[in-house]
Amino acid sequence: MSYTNLNEAIARLDEIEATVSAYSHAMGVLNLDASTAAPLGAAEGRGKTMAVLSGVVYNLAASDDTRELVAYLSEHMEELDANHRRQVEIQKKSCEQLVRIPQEEYIAYNVLLNKAEGIWRVAKIENNFAAFAPVLEKIVAFNRKFAGYYDPDKAPYDALLNEYEEGLSMQTLDGFFAELRRVIVPLIRAVGEKPQPDTGFLEQSFPIEEQKAFAKYLMDVIGLDPNYCTITESEHPFTCGFNCHDVRITTHYHEYNPTFAMYSTIHEGGHALYELGVDESYNGTCLSGGASMSIHESQSRFYENIIGRSREFIELIFPKMQEVFPRQLQGVTAEDLYRAVNKAQPSLVRTESDELTYAMHVMVRYEVEKQLIGGTLEVKDVPAEWNRLYKEYLGVDVPSDTLGCLQDSHWSGGAIGYFPSYALGSAYGAQMKHVCESELGPIAPFIAKGDIAAITAWLREHIHRFGNFKKPAAIFEDACGKFDPKYFADYLTEKYSAIYGL
Ligand code: ZN
Repeated sequence: MSYTNLNEAIARLDEIEATVSAYSHAMGVLNLDASTAAPLGAAEGRGKTMAVLSGVVYNLAASDDTRELVAYLSEHMEELDANHRRQVEIQKKSCEQLVRIPQEEYIAYNVLLNKAEGIWRVAKIENNFAAFAPVLEKIVAFNRKFAGYYDPDKAPYDALLNEYEEGLSMQTLDGFFAELRRVIVPLIRAVGEKPQPDTGFLEQSFPIEEQKAFAKYLMDVIGLDPNYCTITESEHPFTCGFNCHDVRITTHYHEYNPTFAMYSTIHEGGHALYELGVDESYNGTCLSGGASMSIHESQSRFYENIIGRSREFIELIFPKMQEVFPRQLQGVTAEDLYRAVNKAQPSLVRTESDELTYAMHVMVRYEVEKQLIGGTLEVKDVPAEWNRLYKEYLGVDVPSDTLGCLQDSHWSGGAIGYFPSYALGSAYGAQMKHVCESELGPIAPFIAKGDIAAITAWLREHIHRFGNFKKPAAIFEDACGKFDPKYFADYLTEKYSAIYGL
């Protein structure tokens, strides 16, 4: 149909968004179930249901009706209220995204990715980069081509970055990583020359039932209301938010490594607090949920590291931890635990890295991807370049591609340009801490008395409530001013100099 009446068009937009959100909610519950509770044999039936549900959403989004509606509303932007203006802006972008890659290329790419995962998995197990290289070459070629469809005016890698984080560019990242390199590389070297804290007391059996009770306690400490957020188990921890009254987190319990579940619970809890803090009026529209990956990670890492790995937080939770694990923590002090959970040591694998060295792992991948997409590095030379950068930034020798450039599944999944926003999230968090403290005073005393809610209230007011209403960079800049990596560099320098007595 064609639109002539503005109110009618707005009502239709609201109806479409409510429908899409309802289907997404249903598919989200199926995905959650698949990762937490469903038996293996459920996959086929679920696949059929998912195909039907996602088909409905696709047909609705790609329909002539929706395109005409969005075109009509785009011409009447000044007459719309602020929420609908942003909704139309987002819908217009997604309409354009649906048609920008020629269908046969899109299909060919997905066929390739379907095979790539299995080939990567075997190549990683067998430490055989040569087996994965031809697939990676094709994935890189597709991504370079798609970058031209996404935005022909941008450098290809910038266009890819922009897909994951609107407005992100190599210019921002080069400046960011150069500052980190300048400060963190020497800091990592200095830390490496100091004796490491004892972590032996964390390497004994911590029964899983007790870890579960402790995870619930941690959720309570950071202010997650069990009426709106629950925790279950999955292979890899994740968060899924359905609306601002229903967010689920997962963790994984390792009997001999209790800090894994502790910190993944606080990390996912940070994602959850963000989603729970989004303005209620956005429910059922494309404005609900988090703004982007970097803003999301800024929140999860804020709770995990800035709050959760602070001395005050450890002192706050230590009595309860001793009560739950009296035998394991006999003779251990809060200070011992504080030092153990902040142990920093260069390593080979990103997912096992600590707060200090994490960004260096991301930086290596960024440098490699930038050169691959920019055409200055050939796929066959990826392992040598990867290993050279690990030596330069982290001072470690990479013994195999299994522990090197084959470690993560992201390239086989086609995700190029996705990682840098992870490191950016940590840096955003450090600057948020600085601005929050300039308004509230130091956050340490709030943590010491268990008043995490005061910090959450600040984050909610300045970050959480906006959901997708503003672009991610605008959310950050309106709250914190221009991004400056100095705050992250200062935060790490101050913290690790004190812990390691530099
Ligand atoms: Zn996260």
